[in-house]
Amino acid sequence: MEQRLSARIRNIKPSATMSVDSKTKQLLAQGQSVVNMSVGEPDFDTPTAAALAGVKAIANGQTKYTEAAGTLVLRKAIAAKLMSENGLQYAPEQIIVSNGAKHTLYNVCMAILDDGDEVILPAPYWTSYPEQIAVAGGKPVIVAAGADTGYKVTPRALEQAITPKTRAILLNSPSNPTGAVYHEDELAALGEVLRRHDVYIILDEIYERLVYDVKHVSLAALCPELKDRVLLVNGFSKAFAMTGWRLGYVAAPPDVAKAINSFQSHSTGSPSTMSQAAGVVALENFDPTVVDTFKRRRDKLVQGLNSLEGVHCLMPEGAFYAFPDISGVIGRSYEGQAINSATDYCELLLEHGLVASVPGEAFGAPGHVRFSYAVADSDIVEAIERMRRFHQKLS
Ligand code: PMP
Ligand code: GLU
Repeated sequence: MEQRLSARIRNIKPSATMSVDSKTKQLLAQGQSVVNMSVGEPDFDTPTAAALAGVKAIANGQTKYTEAAGTLVLRKAIAAKLMSENGLQYAPEQIIVSNGAKHTLYNVCMAILDDGDEVILPAPYWTSYPEQIAVAGGKPVIVAAGADTGYKVTPRALEQAITPKTRAILLNSPSNPTGAVYHEDELAALGEVLRRHDVYIILDEIYERLVYDVKHVSLAALCPELKDRVLLVNGFSKAFAMTGWRLGYVAAPPDVAKAINSFQSHSTGSPSTMSQAAGVVALENFDPTVVDTFKRRRDKLVQGLNSLEGVHCLMPEGAFYAFPDISGVIGRSYEGQAINSATDYCELLLEHGLVASVPGEAFGAPGHVRFSYAVADSDIVEAIERMRRFHQKLS
């Protein structure tokens, strides 16, 4: 049959974070000793109590569908968490649980975007945002936020990007890929702009607990007058090392929550029952020592990166990524092979240096590379050594 892919899907690119990771896993399976700093996935285990709650749910026969929006028990537990940790009051009906925050974000796009609606997306951005917006018919409007502003969008740039077609802005703090965290005064200034424009505010706060010496602030709590336009996205993957359980959620105004619930009831149905049982217990079992662990690794990695010629890395304040500017090595070559982009750099570094990373092009930031430091301390030391040897051979 003649190939007839939908116009919606025809131009979609595979997720760079997931494809570098699968390429790396293939190399590892072939016996190559690659240090995998590509995908953003905590290297520690799901809290035991949460994992056991999942096992117990299976053993007890909790193996059937739940409500499409997620169990009332979990939605109540999330509402209680939002109240106690974020100072945000939501009714359980305003919370919709999905198969990971990635799924939640897709649901959000489908619920609020019509064809041609613009979504303001500060770059560097997480690689899946523009694709999800486009699949839902929307148009990502990329607003560059460079190293000079700590990779954070300024109120001025935000104001300038807003048009009558703007339907939403998407803010991710702490950020993947830069690790930037919006501080209270910066959020207040953005809130000032958003107060004047009737747009949805999508907040992706999946890394909220992973902040180092700074406080995570939710715009929804800081500017309560904006809360009825906020779609607050969060999940269990990062803080609780539950990437494989596939559990995320949104807290939203009642009409949006209702629409997402209806959409989800036809698309995926309920999220995994046993994962939800584990999620309830996870919320009470965050291990704060992981923050110290990540901070120690961050310091080690950033110091090592900055010791390499042509590499400059700002100190990230949250998440578990370092996002150095490597434009100093663009135009050089490795054993005769030209490095004309971050993609070239990452490919050569993987092949010859055996360190896996993700090129900045995937995040709307050419000239940069993302390294995940959710790996063992010894892997960080090894990666820096390998990169040092790789850089010594650049000409
Ligand atoms: N948002 C951001 C910023 C992320 O880095 C991720 C990573 N996967 C997600 C959402 C989605 O996470 P998950 O689907 O595993 O909940
Ligand atoms: N969010 C992680 C990353 O950026 C996991 C992979 C993904 O979901 O894309 O690496």
